[in-house]
Amino acid sequence: MAEPPPPYEGIYPPLPGARKFDDVAFRELCPPGGIPPVPSPSDTVTFDAPPRPPSPYPSAPQPPPLTVPPPPHITVLVGLPLGCNPAALECPQCRSRIVTNTVPRAGLMTWLVCGGLALMGCWPCCLIPFCVQTCMDIEHYCPGCKAFLGAYKRI
Ligand SMILES: [Zn+2]
Repeated sequence: MAEPPPPYEGIYPPLPGARKFDDVAFRELCPPGGIPPVPSPSDTVTFDAPPRPPSPYPSAPQPPPLTVPPPPHITVLVGLPLGCNPAALECPQCRSRIVTNTVPRAGLMTWLVCGGLALMGCWPCCLIPFCVQTCMDIEHYCPGCKAFLGAYKRI
């Protein structure tokens, strides 16, 4: 085992005027009562903020509180049971029992059949769907008030 190193005091002589750090010097640094307690918030000094001068600018008008309007009453009309034939029903316009007038109209089905026939080269025959009711949509009208009641679409 190596011998312990010699003490520092033996190697470096203390400087003149230097104080040796010991318990006495440590007590001089610390107050006798220990570290003073942290002042409670009630002991803290508060400064009252000076009253705010009136703003030279006119205060902006406060926006009105947002109010959610009640949803509007939506009346959903149940689809009338309309097919390709005249239907007996109560007209929602004139409130009378009627049998609808049917008017065929060219619809998506009509154009699809026409286009298919045209692509196959049936040039004059591709116009036949516009004359065949089974290839057309059917619109229903009230015979009394002539109101449009609905349409039956093939597609
Ligand atoms: Zn009607």
